[in-house]
Amino acid sequence: MRTNLLTVNEFEAAARIIRVGGLVGIPTETVYGLGANGLNPLAVDRIFQAKGRPQDNPLILHIPDPSWLERYCQDIPKSAWQLAKRFWPGPLTMILRRKSIVPDVVTAGLDTVGMRCPAHSVCRAVIQAAGVPVAAPSGNLSGKPSPTTARHMLDDMDGRINAILDGGDCQVGVESTIIDLTCRPPRLLRPGGVPLEELQAVLGEVEVDPAVVRPLDEGEKPRAPGMKYRHYAPKAPVTVVRGDPLRSAQYILDHITASYWEGVICFNEFAHWFEDHPVEQLGGSLDRFEHARRLFRALRAMDENGVKHIWAQCPDTDGMGLAVVNRLNKASGFHIVDA
Ligand code: AMP
Ligand code: MG
Repeated sequence: MRTNLLTVNEFEAAARIIRVGGLVGIPTETVYGLGANGLNPLAVDRIFQAKGRPQDNPLILHIPDPSWLERYCQDIPKSAWQLAKRFWPGPLTMILRRKSIVPDVVTAGLDTVGMRCPAHSVCRAVIQAAGVPVAAPSGNLSGKPSPTTARHMLDDMDGRINAILDGGDCQVGVESTIIDLTCRPPRLLRPGGVPLEELQAVLGEVEVDPAVVRPLDEGEKPRAPGMKYRHYAPKAPVTVVRGDPLRSAQYILDHITASYWEGVICFNEFAHWFEDHPVEQLGGSLDRFEHARRLFRALRAMDENGVKHIWAQCPDTDGMGLAVVNRLNKASGFHIVDA
């Protein structure tokens, strides 16, 4: 199969591919997604094949407008409408009770479904033109860092899908926040583009799922099936260094060897400390939105440089920091040291 790169002007061609059961890479504000007609089980099944994704890891349904929620969900709580009003279109996924019109393959057989209304205008135009909800996970091969540019998606998916619509670089850079509204209190299943603090401001108490902050014990079952898999991982092993930025930079300087093949992901202020190594800058040490925007790009760049070991400075967990820390921890298989 040849994978065509489409420009934003060709969004109707992307919609046509989706309508007839094909696979299209679509830009969103979070990361590039691998989209298919969410009401067509055969098309959705192709997503799992193209990514090498385990069948028990459900997908998110993307809709162009909050009013579509009622087509696919039942028992929608008031809180869902409050969140939609505040954060949609935007990087928030709500877990709600599904209607039977949603195919089992989308939800991995669960009686709930993840729903999101994305903010990227091109993405919404594609879904509108397709006229169906678009099932889409991130557009990477299973286990790899999510793609935040069309080229990164092409690197993973060339020859496996029909087309990629190039809508430019993703502005958020990490996936959507996932909140489960089928339990009380609501539960954060994955930190992402909407910070936990902003959800708390609307919902009051929010429980944080253990899988967000620590590796799960043997036999422990996560609420978001995807959280159990090794994820976001570059080829090289990663050591995450936690602590005050000055101390974590110093820790890396003290422990890095002279080998050129040890790379560093660090805050801009410290880049010049590691001149003899491949360096990817995350942004200024307090610019948490920039860290999110650059993280996956930095991990992929390390692989492109052929680095054999990656040292990464870790931000704190305030605001967008929680999502960045979660992705870094998973990329490293929770190989974390305290500076
Ligand atoms: P991705 O699109 O690659 O970010 O993957 C979607 C994420 O949403 C995975 O971590 C899934 O486990 C999670 N997810 C999707 N649907 C549900 C659901 N019904 N309940 C819990 N988690 C879900
Ligand atoms: Mg993913």
